[in-house]
Amino acid sequence: VEKTLALLKPDSVRAGKAQEIMQLIELNGFTIIAKQKLQLTRARAEEFYGEHYGKEFFPKLVNFMTSGPIWALVLAKPGAILAWRALMGPTNVFKARAEQPKCLRALYGTDGTQNATHGSDSPASAAREIKFYFPHLVPD
Ligand code: ATP
Ligand code: MG
Repeated sequence: VEKTLALLKPDSVRAGKAQEIMQLIELNGFTIIAKQKLQLTRARAEEFYGEHYGKEFFPKLVNFMTSGPIWALVLAKPGAILAWRALMGPTNVFKARAEQPKCLRALYGTDGTQNATHGSDSPASAAREIKFYFPHLVPD
């Protein structure tokens, strides 16, 4: 069954919403097969978001992602990658609130950078990102 990497970002964790979001994840039919609370160093955050290096929002993104603890989760479900991105909703929280008010980013996000959650955007990034946080989980 397909797997994806989810992050609960520092804003939603700081707001005390991590357990509530994990319950919603399971209510939506995902199995959480691995989870870990951690804090990213600047170097690890820059590595994780390497594809965005050089973009104008990159420094703000790295500052945010290193600002407090996060949860890394491996989610399993048929079609998990797309299903998780649909449950998160649009990247921009203001757009999410306008277009999909029940999605996780509308409910738990903060602003244009601080958007509560992350999800892998393709099978290749899911494989890379699961390995990034859970190097001992063997790919199937
Ligand atoms: P994620 O990768 O976190 O699941 P995404 O795939 O929807 O989100 P990306 O384009 O990969 O969005 O951007 C990664 C993250 O960088 C976003 O989730 C957001 O936190 C931040 N970000 C993206 N675009 C902007 C922007 N224009 N201004 C500020 N922050 C942004
Ligand atoms: Mg992305």
